[in-house]
Amino acid sequence: KKNISSVLKNLGIQELNPAYSTGKHWSGATDAKTIDSFSPVDGQKIASIQVATAEDYESVMKTAESAFQFWRSLPAPKRGDMVRQFGDALRAAKEDLGTLVSYEMGKSLQEGFGEVQEMIDICDFAVGLSRQLYGLTMHSERPNHRMYEQWHPMGIVGVISAFNFPVAVWSWNTALALVCGNVCVWKPSSKTPLCAVACQHILSKVLADNEMPEGISNLLIGNAVGDMINNDKRIPLVSFTGSTRIGRTVSTAVASRFGRSILELGGNNAIIISKDADLDMSIIGAVFGAVGTAGQRCTSTRRLIIQEDIYEEFKNRLVKAYGQLRIGDPLDQHHHVGPLIDTAAVDMYSKAIEKGIQEGADFVVEGGVLSGPNYSSGCYVKPCVAAVENHYEIVQEETFAPILYLIKYKTLEEAIALQNGVPQGLSSAIMTLNLREAEQFLSSSGSDCGIANVNIGTSGAEIGGAFGGEKETGGGRESGSDAWKGYMRRQTNTINYANTLPLAQGIKFDL
Ligand code: NAD
Repeated sequence: KKNISSVLKNLGIQELNPAYSTGKHWSGATDAKTIDSFSPVDGQKIASIQVATAEDYESVMKTAESAFQFWRSLPAPKRGDMVRQFGDALRAAKEDLGTLVSYEMGKSLQEGFGEVQEMIDICDFAVGLSRQLYGLTMHSERPNHRMYEQWHPMGIVGVISAFNFPVAVWSWNTALALVCGNVCVWKPSSKTPLCAVACQHILSKVLADNEMPEGISNLLIGNAVGDMINNDKRIPLVSFTGSTRIGRTVSTAVASRFGRSILELGGNNAIIISKDADLDMSIIGAVFGAVGTAGQRCTSTRRLIIQEDIYEEFKNRLVKAYGQLRIGDPLDQHHHVGPLIDTAAVDMYSKAIEKGIQEGADFVVEGGVLSGPNYSSGCYVKPCVAAVENHYEIVQEETFAPILYLIKYKTLEEAIALQNGVPQGLSSAIMTLNLREAEQFLSSSGSDCGIANVNIGTSGAEIGGAFGGEKETGGGRESGSDAWKGYMRRQTNTINYANTLPLAQGIKFDL
């Protein structure tokens, strides 16, 4: 606890934390409603944070609109240089911010540091991008004409993020959006508001040190802010990360006002374990994928589709591996599995197990909620494993907890059909040393997911690739490759340097 106090202090977090920030300005209306941030690690209240009102929202939007007028005119490499400084500030804050992520969200300390590293990596990526943002040039069909395309900033980007990656997802969006010339308004999860306050402090200081106007990076706390962003025509792009259920509401609202959205929604990720797999590697990939972050990653492994010849052997090795898992305080690096985010998540876990049993799931590793002095928050659960059939309702859903389902297959075609046979399409993998199987899995008749791996599990990704998934995962792409295009508007330009005005398609129009 003492350690956490100094972490909060180092990150500039005050006792009563404000509802919103435009950078230099942090709101301070003391009569505002507050929400509490509790740590799932030990159940302690960390702090109370004020909730933004509709007036707060208006004042942020006005500041952001005026900041955009300034920011979009700065040369992109200058914007990139500030993102570079942001990356350096994150390097300096890595230990404190990673520790706060671990304490407020409940993921392991290593994963907390990993999240901050991902922020640093995306800043590096975005800095390079700030000297690129390439458009194409094309050959015009008309003589003495030049045709090309260019990419312009969109305006205010709304970022709505989930609790499970409380800092990295925001930075993926913000680093790219900023080099692209946009300004951002962030509504973080109300389950991890302190992580957001800390991030906003770090970026605001960099911008202020560069004498930038306020309103380039903005933060608004509170659930009601989500709908304000969804329905606000001044926000041309909403990047939403969260459940498919809420994503449907967001995308419908944004589409109805012809806004654009980037949707990063739920997954139901499977690994196919072929009889030609390296089983040692497969066990590590499967167990880490299923229990890492206590099964609370969008890319967590939820299903193992195992070839029947090795099914029994693999199941037995899995049961043995689960027997070695150490569950407890995620800040203690000796533990493999930390808590779920809150007791509501624990209820969902317990209900999913009950429902699975009703549908016929055979639990080969039993679940259960842990109690006792080491588990006083009530958020610790046992990772469990059940033999199921893919069509069970509970298997078709994403339960955000460490429940792993085992499914048997005979042929690769059948395995691919099972892997694709869920509504979600985020991450997928095959474990095989057989080249034909690997290529079939990656072919157009293979995995239907946004991410398809060979001899790597489903969980986690590098920032260099475009991240996102198909079907009910929403179709959005963030992070690497050309995902930056999602944060800009494309303009096609044709310039006539002839003395005449020839029309396209040879159309004649004489006066
Ligand atoms: P959630 O959908 O409950 O909440 C996500 C965010 O939406 C929160 O900030 C929440 O306050 C906000 N919100 C709630 N109602 C809203 C509304 N009407 N309008 C706008 N915003 C609203 O999700 P969660 O429990 O925080 O996170 C877990 C989910 O996120 C899982 O389904 C997981 O798979 C998904 N996720 C996906 C990715 C990805 O990249 N595909 C990454 C991380 C998490």
